[in-house]
Amino acid sequence: MIAGAPTPRRTLGLAALDRHYKVSAAPDIDRVAREVRNSLAQVSSRLLSARAWLRQGTGGGFADTPTPRDGHTYINLDYGVAGTLLRPTILIHEAFHDIADRNQDFGGNPVVDQGARYHRNDTATQLQNAYAMSQFVLHIHVGRERFLGDTE
Ligand SMILES: [Zn+2]
Repeated sequence: MIAGAPTPRRTLGLAALDRHYKVSAAPDIDRVAREVRNSLAQVSSRLLSARAWLRQGTGGGFADTPTPRDGHTYINLDYGVAGTLLRPTILIHEAFHDIADRNQDFGGNPVVDQGARYHRNDTATQLQNAYAMSQFVLHIHVGRERFLGDTE
C-alpha cells in the first residue's frame, strides 16, 4: 500500500514507479508496487544467499544467468573492473533474471541510448524486464534516474 501523507521517500518512490513502471493512477500504482515489492523480496533472498546462488563464470562480460535457469548466476571476468555502484546493480539485475525464465532484457541495456528504447516498454513488459528492476533500485538509491558507465 502506497497511500499516506506525502514524504520525500514516498514522493521518490512514486516518481520511480512512474518512470520505470509507467504507472501514475492510484490503483495501478498499488498493484505494480505490490508486484515490484514481491520481486524485490525474491531478489533480496538471492543476495542474502550469494554463496549458494553465485558461481564463477569463465566468459567475458559482467555476469550471466542462463536460460533455462539452473539456479545460479555466473560472475564473469569483467565484473572485477565494474565500478562500486555498478557491481550491486548488476547483482540486482541478475537476481531478477534468476527468478524466472520470462524475466529478460526488453529494449536492451538502457545505457546504450540513454533509455530511449527502454522507456518505450509498457508496464507489463517492464514488470518482466531485468533492467527495470535494477534501474528502479538504482533510482531509489541515488534519488534520480542514472545510466551508469562501466567504472561507476
Ligand atoms: Zn540482463
